Amino acid sequence: MSDTATTKRTARKWLLTQNSELRKEGIFNWTLPAFAVKLPSGENFNVCPQAGVCAQLCYARAGAYRFKNVRAAHIRNLLLCRDSPIEWEERMTEELSHRRYAGKWIRLHDSGDFFSDAYLLAWMRIMKNTPKSRFYCYTKEISRFKRLVEPGAPENFLWCYSLGGREDHLIDLGVERHADVFPDVEALIIAGYNDQTESDLLSVLSESPLVGIPANRIPHLLKRQGQETFGSLQRARHEKLATKRQRVSQTVGLARP
Ligand code: SF4
Repeated sequence: MSDTATTKRTARKWLLTQNSELRKEGIFNWTLPAFAVKLPSGENFNVCPQAGVCAQLCYARAGAYRFKNVRAAHIRNLLLCRDSPIEWEERMTEELSHRRYAGKWIRLHDSGDFFSDAYLLAWMRIMKNTPKSRFYCYTKEISRFKRLVEPGAPENFLWCYSLGGREDHLIDLGVERHADVFPDVEALIIAGYNDQTESDLLSVLSESPLVGIPANRIPHLLKRQGQETFGSLQRARHEKLATKRQRVSQTVGLARP
């Protein structure tokens, strides 16, 4: 084999990566930037349309995720799947057909979310076309999933709804699989949730549908969260907004002749 051919083979750019946590479990990962981002064109874009209180507590908006090279890679991913969806879908399907992914789990979004119907539907086609891999995710896109995924999910796809978003109220907490972020392991056990610290796959494979995640040890975020969970903070915000809306409509009603 010529030197050029060798260079070409070793220079292959994979779309999927592995962070240190997921590598231990042999899981591959597709990542986008978190929440509101400014793109190189100057355009603002929200990658997590249903984010609620989670946006203020998001580990993916702190620490290593903010390193210039890491952020640039996540923005490249976003631009590829958002602005060149056909090319992205072809490349992703081709990559996932490689033997390195056979029998492997692929986590979608350790940061970011399914920002549009078209993007989610593209992922569902990719999953159906690459049956040797298995896919999972956490998501706050509850209504989008209930509309597009639940009626006909690919067999190799599992998901876990996650609290802290604007659509928390659409989740049946007694029945549907969902995750909440607690201040620590003790708190989640007391609340009756299943600790997923041992393996991220417990988010979709644990017997109990109540998935508890201890908060990342990032001091300013821990302080901001206090003893609350993402779910309890979102409920409090929801109630506050409902009271405010009621007060406004009463005031408008009183002002009408
Ligand atoms: S949806 Fe996830 S990635 Fe997006 S802001 Fe919330 S916690 Fe962060």
